[in-house]
Amino acid sequence: MARGAEPVPDGLVLTRHQGAPGLTTLDGYRKVGGYQGLARALEMGSEAIVAEVKASGLRGRGGAAFPTGTKWGFLPQGVFPRYLAVNADESEPGCFKDRVLIEEYPHQLLEGVLIAAFALQASHAFIYIRGEYRKQRELLEEVVREAYRAKLVGKRILGSDFGCEVVVHGGAGAYICGEETALLDSLEGRRGQPRLKPPFPAVKGLYGQPTVVNNVETLSNLPYIVTEGGAAYAALGTEASPGTRLFCVSGHVERPGTFEVPMGRTTFRDLLELAGGVWRGRRFKAMQPGGGSMQVLGPQHLDVPLDFKAVAEAGSSLGAGALVVMDETTCMVDVSRRLVDFYRHESCGKCVPCREGTYFESQLMHRLEEGRASAGELATLADICAGMDGRCFCPLGDTATWFVMSAYRMFKDEFDAHVGAGRCPVRARLGVAA
Ligand code: SF4
Repeated sequence: MARGAEPVPDGLVLTRHQGAPGLTTLDGYRKVGGYQGLARALEMGSEAIVAEVKASGLRGRGGAAFPTGTKWGFLPQGVFPRYLAVNADESEPGCFKDRVLIEEYPHQLLEGVLIAAFALQASHAFIYIRGEYRKQRELLEEVVREAYRAKLVGKRILGSDFGCEVVVHGGAGAYICGEETALLDSLEGRRGQPRLKPPFPAVKGLYGQPTVVNNVETLSNLPYIVTEGGAAYAALGTEASPGTRLFCVSGHVERPGTFEVPMGRTTFRDLLELAGGVWRGRRFKAMQPGGGSMQVLGPQHLDVPLDFKAVAEAGSSLGAGALVVMDETTCMVDVSRRLVDFYRHESCGKCVPCREGTYFESQLMHRLEEGRASAGELATLADICAGMDGRCFCPLGDTATWFVMSAYRMFKDEFDAHVGAGRCPVRARLGVAA
C-alpha cells in the first residue's frame, strides 16, 4: 500500500519497506536490505533465477498477465546481444501504480531490472518511461547515476563477470507505446506503432535482437522472489493467482490510492473498503476492474475475488490493476463516450478497423449522449464494435470496444433512454445541466 490508506499488513512484497526513511537513495535502500537480492542472484546463476521466477507463478503486471518465467524462456539459445526493455509507459486510464513504485521505491525497481538482466544475460536494459512522467524520469536518472557510481550498474557488477548498462528513455506521451512492439519502435527512434507478430520480441526485438519486455511492477517483485524464494512469493496469494499485486483505486471513493493486496484472497469489495468506500454516502453503480480497457462490472460482482479466472468468469479482466469506481450519479453513456474519445485520440492509425472504427464510434457516442441518435444508430454502434473486436492489428482496437459494449449490455435501458431524448436523461433526472 502506498498512498493514503491503512497500515501495511504483513506478508506484502512491493511496499514492505513503506515508511523506511530515504528509500529513494542508495543508502536508505541498503539499510532495508537493498541489493542483497542482486548479490544473491549473482551467486545463484541465471538458470536458478529463472526457476525461482517460474516457481513464484509471477505473471506480467502490465495487463496481459503472461507468466514471466515462461516469457523469459522464449529467448533463443546462444543469440547475443540480448536486451531487457522495461515498460514504464504507464498510460492506462485509472492506472498509476508504476508511478508510485518509481517515486517511492526506485532502487527496488532498479534492483529488479538488474536481476532480470542477469537472468536473461542481457547486456543493456532500457527503461522506457511515459513522457508525462518527467519528474519520475529525472528521479530514475538520478538513481541510475547513483548506482553507476556504486558499481551496481555497468561493468563487473558487484565484482562479478556480469555487466549491464542501464538507459532511461522518455516517451513522448503516446498510449500506444505501452504496447510492447510499439515501445520498441519508439525506443529505436521511429514512430511508435505496433509490429507484426511473429516474430515476437523474444526472438527479434530491439534492434532485431532477442528482447524481453517487462513491466515496472513485474520487475519490482524480483528482489523479494530471489531473497525469499519463489514458493514464498506464490504462497502470499492463491494457487491460481499467486503473490500480491498493486491496485490503483480511483473514481467515486473517499480515499483514492494504491493498495497492495494478496491476489485471490481479496475481493473488489475489500479494495473498495480500503479506499474508504463510495464517496458522499452514495450508492455504488459500476466499476472498471482493470483500467479503461476492461469490461464494466456491477454491484453483483463486488464479492468476486481478485483472481484472474474469477474475474474472467465475471466477464472482465484485472488488466493493468486499476479499479475505477462509479457512483449512482454516473451516466454510463457519458463514461463510454469519454473512453471512446480517448481511444480515437490514441489510435495510431496503422490499421483500418481501429482508425476508422474509433472515429465512427466516437461520432455515434457523441450523438447518443446528446440525445440526437436514432435506435438504428445504436444498432450501427454495435455493428461497428463487432467489426473491430478481434479484427484489429493490436489490442488497442479490440479494447476500444470492450467497455462500451459491456456497458451497453449491462445498462441497456440507460443507452436506450438516450435515443431521441434530446439530452442526457441521467443528467436530466439529476437536474444537472447538459
Ligand atoms: Fe494502431 Fe489501433 Fe491498429 Fe493498434 S489497432 S495498430 S492502435 S490503428
